[in-house]
Amino acid sequence: MSDSIERVKCLIIGSGPAGYTAAIYASRANMNPILYQGAQPGGQLTTTNEVENFPGYPDGITGPEMMMELQKQAERFGTDVRNGWITKVDFSGEVHKVWVNDEKEIHCDTVIISTGASAKYLGLESEQKYLKLGGGVSACAVCDGFFYRNQEVVIVGAGDSACEEAHYLSNLCKKVTMLVRRDEFRASKIMEARVRNTPNIEILMNTETEEVIGDGQLVTAVKARNKETGEVIEIPATGFFVAIGHKPNTDIFKGFLELDETGYIINKPGSSRTNIEGVFVSGDAADHVYRQAITAAGTGCMAALDAERYLASKDATFEVSTSTYN
Ligand code: NDP
Repeated sequence: MSDSIERVKCLIIGSGPAGYTAAIYASRANMNPILYQGAQPGGQLTTTNEVENFPGYPDGITGPEMMMELQKQAERFGTDVRNGWITKVDFSGEVHKVWVNDEKEIHCDTVIISTGASAKYLGLESEQKYLKLGGGVSACAVCDGFFYRNQEVVIVGAGDSACEEAHYLSNLCKKVTMLVRRDEFRASKIMEARVRNTPNIEILMNTETEEVIGDGQLVTAVKARNKETGEVIEIPATGFFVAIGHKPNTDIFKGFLELDETGYIINKPGSSRTNIEGVFVSGDAADHVYRQAITAAGTGCMAALDAERYLASKDATFEVSTSTYN
């Protein structure tokens, strides 16, 4: 049974840099935002060790610490930060309905979606072990490539992201070995040509990753198998980058919001507005291109400003229509 229905002016779903930035702006605009943190409070950055590219932290900061600071900043202005997982929405009517943990029902004037995207991983036990240890497995070359300057790394994937990230890494690392599981790339021809023409990128086609090898703390090599010949090789590497795609966390919005073919929410160009009035999107849930903490924070700010302006325009309409009847 649901509790009594709660009515809120601004509900923010998700607790990464996008959600917390939206919360800071919305609370400072007296929108009394409630933010639900979701299953992974702090979002993707909590799986990152050192963040060195977010302006304002000259000495760097760990991902979890940065998220705690953002939460504190949002709470300082009155954001109600809650544990809970939004399991269902109904955006078909005038009031936007949202359910928490399949039980609690909330009616919202505005909703800001900051549910992010999750990087896909191979699922190997060794990959997950060194990912959790922060020992050399990463799904973001732009975030972590700098830590592997002048070192040898391996990247898996053959889409546009993998090509872009391999090329990015080639500017920092001594050598990049790219593992492509089939006999062809999925990436566009131009992106493929770019990696093929980069001297310090070696491409191994038809090659499957078997294991990430390490010394118990740090990655030291990657074991891979050629699918045609069966040959198994060990590639020395201090970093293993996974670039096999992301999954936007948008399943619950299907049927209400316009999504692209991979599930990213389509926002109106230059704004955070979606196809539903009063529902806004920020961060990686709508961004498969930049995917950075700073861009997510920027769009979180946009979403709060758009929501505030939307509420103001609704209030103005209400005042005009009621005064007509007075
Ligand atoms: P994609 O889904 O396009 O590519 C994923 C790649 O990972 C494929 O090559 C796939 O192999 C490979 N892969 C998946 N699972 C495994 C696995 N278990 N082992 C090994 N390899 C695996 O994802 P992207 O993130 O690259 O791109 C997403 C979208 O974003 C695309 O539309 C892309 O065009 C776009 N994009 C555009 C950019 C640009 O234009 N600058 C930059 C980045 C992304 P297989 O081919 O065998 O399935």
